[in-house]
Amino acid sequence: MTVVTCDDLQKWLREFARLIVANKDHLTQLDSAIGDADHGINMDRGMQAIVAVLDAEECTRVDELFKKVGMTLVTTVGGAAGPLYGTFFLRFGIAGGATTELTVTELGEALRAGREGVIARGKPEPGDKTMFDAMAPATDAFDAAVAVGEELEVALAKAQAAAEQGRDDTIPMLAKKGRASYLGERSIGHQDPGATSTALLFAAAAAALS
Ligand code: ADP
Ligand code: MG
Repeated sequence: MTVVTCDDLQKWLREFARLIVANKDHLTQLDSAIGDADHGINMDRGMQAIVAVLDAEECTRVDELFKKVGMTLVTTVGGAAGPLYGTFFLRFGIAGGATTELTVTELGEALRAGREGVIARGKPEPGDKTMFDAMAPATDAFDAAVAVGEELEVALAKAQAAAEQGRDDTIPMLAKKGRASYLGERSIGHQDPGATSTALLFAAAAAALS
């Protein structure tokens, strides 16, 4: 695959929604250890609303699709994750632009713009034990693979592996952002729920766009 079409991007979102449902209880369980036990519920509510958006219309333009997707998350998901993922998708769409398909390089730029949106919204730093600890290595791995001329499939597989490693790496971290930070030292030894859902976002991309 050398370009990613708007249809492909819709498949990515549907696959993410499917993985969120499949992991809903697990995400909520992780959030019960260091948060308020709603991450799976929050994400599932948001992604079901997105599936309804996808069902209602065909994709014409990347920027328009992701504007709707981002706004849907911001408005339907309470808590930290809704606005953070919402901003990710809004910025992804703006960078993607008024087009029906993205080249591999453009996809990398859109993912990076999404990541910048998460930084702007949540001010996470590496090692704060948040979704950013899965997102940053994933987008870095994608860009590094594309820079050396790897195919989309390979770049996405590397991004997924980096996201999963980043998710696992949150376990020994002390939380410095979000609800988990209220626990201080007691946040150590638990996997971050947001990093876990972000690993699913990249797993969905690898499955749907390869
Ligand atoms: P809430 O914490 O409001 O209940 P969720 O449970 O849905 O929201 O999401 C929690 C996740 O959000 C955390 O596991 C973490 O990954 C992410 N998160 C929280 N605050 C921030 C932040 N400032 N920057 C980046 N990610 C954050
Ligand atoms: Mg929560």
